[in-house]
Amino acid sequence: MRRPRPTEESRARAARITQALADLLPDEPLPASPSEPGSAGRRAARGGDCPGCGEPLQATAARHGVEFDTCGTCGGIWLDAGELEALTSGLDPIPGTGAQNEADLRARVPAPAPREADIRYRECPRCREVMNRRNFGTISGVIVDECRHHGLFLDAGELEEVEAFLRAGGRAVGEAARARAAARSMPPAPPQLETPRSARHETAATSVVDVLWNLLFT
Ligand SMILES: [Zn+2]
Ligand SMILES: [Zn+2]
Repeated sequence: MRRPRPTEESRARAARITQALADLLPDEPLPASPSEPGSAGRRAARGGDCPGCGEPLQATAARHGVEFDTCGTCGGIWLDAGELEALTSGLDPIPGTGAQNEADLRARVPAPAPREADIRYRECPRCREVMNRRNFGTISGVIVDECRHHGLFLDAGELEEVEAFLRAGGRAVGEAARARAAARSMPPAPPQLETPRSARHETAATSVVDVLWNLLFT
């Protein structure tokens, strides 16, 4: 397999991306990932090829002993399971100040332009399985590649798009949209919930008719 050594330029670029990630890190150390307990296991799992361009990912130290796998060639970022959530946990706006609905959200952050990469399936750098594509936060329009076992890949610029979406209040708007979609796709309310109410209506209707009938014709 071709194993090119990273150039100075790609190293510098990977370091810049890692710095941007480090700036998002909370002041407290990240909790250890439950799927990969112990830093030894974590480190051993580093590496692999960039899902975006195939060049080797570069593990660069951020802070609190956290390393990120970034690609200095295409600017992509690989985040292990849970890392994106940890990085973005502090970005939600103060309650009441974020977007109230999707139209409000779009007025604050325009939907990102689709990328050519969005239509290609890519391999997880850890297990080489083909990853799923997911619309981050249901409605962000940022299409991330995700391995449900190992983590996800962000193309160059997608981290900034995720950040803008969350700072505008996109998480809450997206969760509401997902709840509505789930409610629509649910089967109609089970009969045991419907029956008593309609039965009651029928009973009431019947008794009114009965009363009228009795009044008029008996
Ligand atoms: Zn790359
Ligand atoms: Zn994987």
